[in-house]
Amino acid sequence: MFVVFRCSCGRHLYAPKDAKTRTCPCGKRTILSKARVLAQAEDAFAAGEIVRTLQLDGHGMTGFKPAGP
Ligand SMILES: [Zn+2]
Repeated sequence: MFVVFRCSCGRHLYAPKDAKTRTCPCGKRTILSKARVLAQAEDAFAAGEIVRTLQLDGHGMTGFKPAGP
């Protein structure tokens, strides 16, 4: 499972759910336990798609849900 969240710089990022931190290209290290999770995805590909959509849209979440159990 992957989680999608937003860095304070505004970039959307994803990381494995069990990761502790994720470093943004801006250089800021986000602690995942303190990040607001925007969406979850089954795998990195799906997470990447969600991030791509968020970057294009940027207006809130409208029903991204994990597809599996
Ligand atoms: Zn950033």
